[in-house]
Amino acid sequence: MVTFQTAMSDATSPGTATCARCDTTLTEGDRVVAGDRAFCRSCYDTLSHEVRQAVARMSEDINYPMAALGAVLGGAAGALAWWGFTVLTEISFGLVAVVIGFLAGHGAVRFAGGKRGTGLQAIAVTVGALSFLVAAYLVNMTFINQTLQQRGEGWRIPFPPHSVEMFSRVLAVNFGMMKLVFLAIVVYEAWLIPRPPKLDLAA
Ligand SMILES: [Zn+2]
Repeated sequence: MVTFQTAMSDATSPGTATCARCDTTLTEGDRVVAGDRAFCRSCYDTLSHEVRQAVARMSEDINYPMAALGAVLGGAAGALAWWGFTVLTEISFGLVAVVIGFLAGHGAVRFAGGKRGTGLQAIAVTVGALSFLVAAYLVNMTFINQTLQQRGEGWRIPFPPHSVEMFSRVLAVNFGMMKLVFLAIVVYEAWLIPRPPKLDLAA
């Protein structure tokens, strides 16, 4: 239909002779071009209002407990995947950690019923970063405990850690630049996925 109209108006003048919504003949002062189509001012205002409302609804009535649950499930699944991969292969392949941010972001969006918004971004970023740190703790814990076992030591690093201090000391064993880079990627993924779409409408 639209293609047909465009083709028809192409025959007379280049594409923008009539409004793509109401077929009114457009004048120089009453024509808004959006992409490859032209609208009269009032149709354009109606359309952009509808689009703005649709985007606003996307960030309204968000079920935050469900979103948080989805983010936690996603983050936990990603953390387990990284931990399992690292322990099984004994390769510290940090790039696998990126799935933590991906799953935390998608978990928040899915469990909130496909909504997006800054609140969901905050949840996904927080959960993604924490999941990454917990996963890094689990990896270190496993390798330290293997060493303790080989030495015949009787004590083990526990999970969950007994204190924040224990948590940070186990993390600090090998927390270098690469870990920081992977953490940044996790945070970026978790921030990007629940982001509401950017509107680029003429005023
Ligand atoms: Zn119109």
